[in-house]
Amino acid sequence: MYIIMITPECAPVAKVGGLGDVIQGLSRELGLRGNAVEIILPKYDCMRYDRIWGLCKTYSDLWVPYHDQHIHCDVYFGFVEGLKCFFIESHSDKNFFDRGLYYGHHDDCERFAFFCRAALEFMLKSNKHPDIIHCHDWQTGLVPVLLFDLYASMGMTHQRVCYTLHNLKHQGVNGEHILRQVGLNPADYMNQDRLQDNFNHQAINLMKGGIVYANFVTTVSPRYAEEIKNTDLGCGLQHTLHVHSGKFGGVLNGIDYNVWNPEIDPHIAGRYSVETIDDKYRNKKALRRRLWLRDDFKPVVAVVSRLDHQKGVGLIKHAVQHCLGHGCQFVLLGSSPDPNVNNEFWALKHALNDNPDCHLEISYNEELAHLIYAGADMILVPSAFEPCGLTQMIAMKYGTVPVVRNTGGLADTVFDADYAPRPYHERNGYVFNDLDNPGLESALNRAVGMWNVYPQYFRELMANGMRYDYSWNHPAEHYLNIYNYITE
Ligand code: ADP
Repeated sequence: MYIIMITPECAPVAKVGGLGDVIQGLSRELGLRGNAVEIILPKYDCMRYDRIWGLCKTYSDLWVPYHDQHIHCDVYFGFVEGLKCFFIESHSDKNFFDRGLYYGHHDDCERFAFFCRAALEFMLKSNKHPDIIHCHDWQTGLVPVLLFDLYASMGMTHQRVCYTLHNLKHQGVNGEHILRQVGLNPADYMNQDRLQDNFNHQAINLMKGGIVYANFVTTVSPRYAEEIKNTDLGCGLQHTLHVHSGKFGGVLNGIDYNVWNPEIDPHIAGRYSVETIDDKYRNKKALRRRLWLRDDFKPVVAVVSRLDHQKGVGLIKHAVQHCLGHGCQFVLLGSSPDPNVNNEFWALKHALNDNPDCHLEISYNEELAHLIYAGADMILVPSAFEPCGLTQMIAMKYGTVPVVRNTGGLADTVFDADYAPRPYHERNGYVFNDLDNPGLESALNRAVGMWNVYPQYFRELMANGMRYDYSWNHPAEHYLNIYNYITE
């Protein structure tokens, strides 16, 4: 099968969060199964160019409609970890993708609407006829709309679209001028069955467009699929998802075991597997050395996260104090695009500067993340909501026991050591329900208590987590079934 991913992110070149990892991991697995996979991305100025191999201009005369003009684009080709990637560079005084940041600009909707039109125009002009176009999140919601209402009449008739929702918090809600920009008549789309936002009837909703027009819609875990259809976590799209529930389902993300695997990880101090689990402690030592933590008989509790309110920043801050007061060491690696949140953590860092049991690293650091997953005893993920969450799955692969809130993909992957309705050999962590300090403390205390009092049982939890297969093996098969279903 010939599959084209249209996406705003792809790890490791353009990664803000889990979406980037998903594109890399899923594409690689689909490729290994004999499918032809290509990826189309914007050519951002802030990408990791050092991670692209053989970057060269491959198409230089692409004129993309924009209002009543055309914008000239060049398309570059390069390999990212062996994946074939096309990067669209736009030449206009708008500098759509040369902003030093991936997201967070006032005209983000305009930028990514342009990207959707440019990606399809490139496919048309370069005669690409994939069986499947797989697009992701609000940034690419216009792809199926443009494909079926504009490009089908230009000959792109047999493509089918799978659309994956990675986070309903961001939906791309904006004025109808966005439609005019890409060559669609707003009058045709401003109704409840199409792109009109369910709250603001003067606005269009790009994610809703993707849901309405795609042949199949997925989200990144079965629990999140239920939550966004039936609770406020749908952020206004519940009704739309109900209407389209016949073509909607949850597919749990995987993680890429070529990148996240303690048996081969080049970034950690000592490699290990479930059979040589004792070697994990070389990484605990190395982590302590690297972060100036003292060597002591204490568990290391870690957080690796974007510091977004979604991730439970209030609870994370509480956890720092709680852990330090209850015989643990605490390590945080995180950053936020919001300067206020970063400042709060900087203040906390300064207050704890002399504490030999705590290190807060307020930055984005891929390589340190590997050492933390390998060196910590527990990873904390106290999210308010979590579409899938990769950190808990990565942590389990490294024998680090997750302590998580009972929501979304966390609920689908972490099974409580004490209460899960599962046999003991399937239990792999600690889960709490209530999004408040007592809720968090109840799970943390149980985990730390187990580590201190029943280390043998704690090791079983570590081993259980390591034995789970959270690779892309199953999810890729699931996606191939969906692709087959919509092409039949
Ligand atoms: P989200 O996509 O909501 O950010 P996920 O758990 O799905 O959350 O994915 C997070 C990914 O980003 C993981 O690969 C995690 O290791 C990585 N990550 C998050 N924050 C940092 C950071 N500060 N430094 C390095 N990696 C990070």
